[in-house]
Amino acid sequence: MAYIISDECISCGACVEECPTNSISEGSAHYEINPDTCIDCGACAETCPNAAISQQ
Ligand code: SF4
Repeated sequence: MAYIISDECISCGACVEECPTNSISEGSAHYEINPDTCIDCGACAETCPNAAISQQ
């Protein structure tokens, strides 16, 4: 299952450059992960300063 970004996201953008498949982009309310290209590596989750990224 892909990782998801919750409402805890403060849109800092720290996770974006960590993603090896460029699956993270700025959404309407906060950053979002494309579930079709996410390979479940977890790199983004470790980077988030607000623990907003978790596995579904
Ligand atoms: Fe990208 Fe890995 Fe995070 Fe998926 S888990 S969005 S592939 S950094």
